[in-house]
Amino acid sequence: MKVLFVAGDPKPERWTVPIKELLPEAEVYVWDANGPAVDADYAIVWQPPAELFERETRLKAVFNLGAGIDGLLAVPNLPPHLPMVRLEDAGMSVQMAEYMLHQLVEASRGMETYREQQRENIWKIHRPIKRSEWPVGIMGLGHIGKRVARTLADLDYRVNGWARSDHTLDRVTTYAGANRLTDFLGSTRVLVNTLPLTEETRDILNRQLFSQLMPGAVVINVGRGEHLVEDDLLEAIDSGQVARASLDVFRQEPLPADHPFWQRPEITITPHISARTLRDATLEQITRKIRAHYNGQPITGIVDTGRGY
Ligand code: NAP
Repeated sequence: MKVLFVAGDPKPERWTVPIKELLPEAEVYVWDANGPAVDADYAIVWQPPAELFERETRLKAVFNLGAGIDGLLAVPNLPPHLPMVRLEDAGMSVQMAEYMLHQLVEASRGMETYREQQRENIWKIHRPIKRSEWPVGIMGLGHIGKRVARTLADLDYRVNGWARSDHTLDRVTTYAGANRLTDFLGSTRVLVNTLPLTEETRDILNRQLFSQLMPGAVVINVGRGEHLVEDDLLEAIDSGQVARASLDVFRQEPLPADHPFWQRPEITITPHISARTLRDATLEQITRKIRAHYNGQPITGIVDTGRGY
C-alpha cells in the first residue's frame, strides 16, 4: 500500500513519522511538486494542487485533513468517482463546544462589564441572567453542531437546532429544511453557525437572516468566512439588531490589517482557532480508515459531492 502526504507543511515528517508507525504496512511518500508519480493508493491532503489528480491516477480514496471539504471540492478536475473522506470530529467538536460556551457566556453573563468595572476598582453586582432570554440556535447538527447543542442544553440554555434533515436530540428543538429557517431564527437570540460551505449555504448569514433573529442578537460564526456577508453584519450591528458577533473564520485569512472588523468593539475576532486539527487524533482516524478501506471494509465520512459535504 502506498500513501502520499500532500499538505504544505514545512515539516512533513511531523505527519509521515506517525503515519508510518500507525500504518506499518504502508510505504509513505511526501508530495514533490517536481517529482514523478508514485502511484499512490491513498492521499492525505490539505488544499492539494490540481496536479495531484493528473499525476496520481491510481488513487483509491483521498483523506482530507479537516472537517470542511470546501477547499478540496474547489480543486478543478477532481476525478468524479474518487471517494473524498472528511474528518469526523477527531477532537474538534469538544473544542467547538468550549469555544461556543465561552462566547455565549461572555454575552449572557455580561463579562465585559465586570472587566470594565475591575479597571475602575468597582464592586458592583448585576442581576442574575434569565436563561429564557438567551435562546441559542445552532445552524448545522452534524458532528460539531450536535456536540455544541448538547453542551449548551446541559447548562439549561434553551437550544434550537437547524439542519437539512430531521434530527431528534434530547432537550433541543429541531427544525429541518429551508422552509423552517424562519421559525428557527424567530426563536433564536444567539446564532451559532457550524454549517459546511456549499452552494446552498454560501452568504447565508446576511441582512435578511439577521432581521429575523430576536433583537439584540449575538452571531457566532465558526463555519467558513464565505457564509457571512460582511457588510450586512456591520449594518446589523449599526442598527442594533445584532449586539455582538464572535468571528473565527473570514473571507480572507489572515484578516487584512485594515479590515473594518478589527475596529469594532462589538466584534470578537479569533484567527481560525475555534477547533484545531489535533495531529494524533486525526492520524489515528485516517490510518484506521485507510486500513479498513484497503481491506474492503466500509468506512464513514465519505463526502456526498452532489450536496457538497
Ligand atoms: P457535518 O457533520 O457534515 O455536519 C454538517 C451539518 O450541516 C449537518 O447537520 C447538515 O444537515 C447541515 N447542513 C448542511 N447543509 C445544510 C443546508 N443547506 N441547510 C441546513 N443544514 C445544512 O460537519 P461538521 O463536522 O459538523 O463540520 C461543519 C463545518 O464546520 C465544516 O464543514 C467546517 O466548515 C466547519 N469547521 C470549522 C472549523 C474551525 O476551526 N473554524 C473546524 C472544523 C470545522 P444534515 O444533518 O441534515 O445532513
